Amino acid sequence: MKNKRVIIIGGGISGLAAGIYAKINGYDAVILEKNHVLGGACIGWERKGCYIDGCIHWMTGINPKSKYYDLWTEVGAISPQTEYFFQDDFYTLDFGGDNKFTVWADTDKLERELIAFAPEDEKQIKSFCKLIKRFRRIEGPVQKPVDMMNLSELLKIAFTMLGDYYYVSKTSKISCEDYAKKFKNEYIRKWIAEHMSANYNLMSMLYMLGQVSRKNGGIPLGASRTVIDNMQAKYLSLGGEIRYNAEVANVNVDNGVATGVTLKNGEVLNCDYTVSATPIEHTLKVLLGGKYSLKSIDDRLKDEKTYPIYTYTTAVFKCNEDLSSAPLSHKVYPSAPIILEKAHSAVTFRNYAYDKTLKVTEGCTVVQATISGEDEMYYWWKSIKENGGYKAEKQKIADTLLKIFLSRYPSLEGKVEIIDVITPMTYERYLNTRHGSFQGFVHTAKGKSLMQKGVIKNLRNFILAGQGIFRSGGMPPAAITGRFAIQRICKKDKKKFMYKPL
Ligand SMILES: Cc1cc2nc3c(=O)[nH]c(=O)nc-3n(C[C@H](O)[C@H](O)[C@H](O)COP(=O)(O)OP(=O)(O)OC[C@H]3O[C@@H](n4cnc5c(N)ncnc54)[C@H](O)[C@@H]3O)c2cc1C
Repeated sequence: MKNKRVIIIGGGISGLAAGIYAKINGYDAVILEKNHVLGGACIGWERKGCYIDGCIHWMTGINPKSKYYDLWTEVGAISPQTEYFFQDDFYTLDFGGDNKFTVWADTDKLERELIAFAPEDEKQIKSFCKLIKRFRRIEGPVQKPVDMMNLSELLKIAFTMLGDYYYVSKTSKISCEDYAKKFKNEYIRKWIAEHMSANYNLMSMLYMLGQVSRKNGGIPLGASRTVIDNMQAKYLSLGGEIRYNAEVANVNVDNGVATGVTLKNGEVLNCDYTVSATPIEHTLKVLLGGKYSLKSIDDRLKDEKTYPIYTYTTAVFKCNEDLSSAPLSHKVYPSAPIILEKAHSAVTFRNYAYDKTLKVTEGCTVVQATISGEDEMYYWWKSIKENGGYKAEKQKIADTLLKIFLSRYPSLEGKVEIIDVITPMTYERYLNTRHGSFQGFVHTAKGKSLMQKGVIKNLRNFILAGQGIFRSGGMPPAAITGRFAIQRICKKDKKKFMYKPL
């Protein structure tokens, strides 16, 4: 009998994961990717002889004891042979003068560092570090969608997560900004309030620090490009098909059944199942022409305050020096704020000297200077682009960031070249993503956690995947939704879901 055919729109992590599980489960699979390479937001590229990594700051799930580890190995992203860089110093905060401290991955070391820096907050610091340790063991279900679990599987999850529930629900309702007020030291307050952004809930911060401290977050050597190359090789080895430069214009629907897609060049491709692994707003508004709605997503699209996006403005420097001994991530608070859509008090300089496998001109180090923002940052860049001053503004911001960088690394004067500038407009153009976001919706203290089922009422044979439907996004949710999409298809076809080839 002929295999059923699955079309997967989008070749990011979620699309690749869907393709791999589709092939493992005996479907013919084709990934349609709009760009000339796969990876989506998980990408790396070259400029002036240097590799620029566009994604992995930490990849959760690389500890063999983690529930995510099996997922990552099943899709070939990592293997037992993969080598990692584990960050000891997560980042260093530099408020000027002696007001500096490092956020160590090791929680005990972090506790000592913070108490030495702000002895007046000893009690609060101890309680914060205790919370980080509590979050080391917390991980959501990965094996199958909760709505597909039977009673005994649900009870097992409920039993194992019973103790976690209290901490998760309590800390997800507190914003980092509010929690920071518990500390007396102004710099500790600034650190916590601005760890990601003031709106982030405390849970997200604790989860991140907890996973890094348990060495469940690290960076595979070779970075984002290698992770995607590994997944692509796995997909191709299973017989999967890829079409590059194949932007989908719309999903074809006949009598409530998705029958395939039409590409931008007019070509029509038919299939038994369509999986959309593109950013969720693009799927709903463009590919489905706004004809279907999903309440949980619509609520988020309408309320930017409660559900902001997360984006970056980044300048990339090629430094003619080996910066191996400089901090991995150096968050600098300059004397004057940096003016973009608002006054930003800090910029983070991330140095890539840690991975000697990355291509770089001999003796040089790539440094990325990043300012993070939300929807307003996107609107600001958009209006500049529409008014014709985009190139000049990018140069101006990059020059400002370089000046701040040199204030902390004066010996590099004359040795640094700006080799790229990335804005929310770059992410929007490249990914078709909402407001230049590269994560899901931010999980703020006022927002609800997102767990969309991936199906749309009155639209059969169409499944959603991608980080935009699961929690607040990131690499693991992307891969999980790719897996869940194929689990749903197998269920529909009454097939036992397989996670590795027979
Ligand atoms: C700077 C940066 C740092 C990050 N750091 C981390 C980190 O440290 N840890 C972490 O876990 N995550 C991180 N992320 C997030 C991570 O990259 C994403 O969560 C993940 O890659 C999302 O995968 P996805 O498949 O859901 O979506 P995407 O990567 O957005 O993939 C969607 C794909 O669909 C394609 N597409 C869109 N429209 C169409 C169309 N009409 N037709 C055909 N194809 C289409 C796009 O080109 C894209 O390839 C970072 C991202 C960035 C940009």
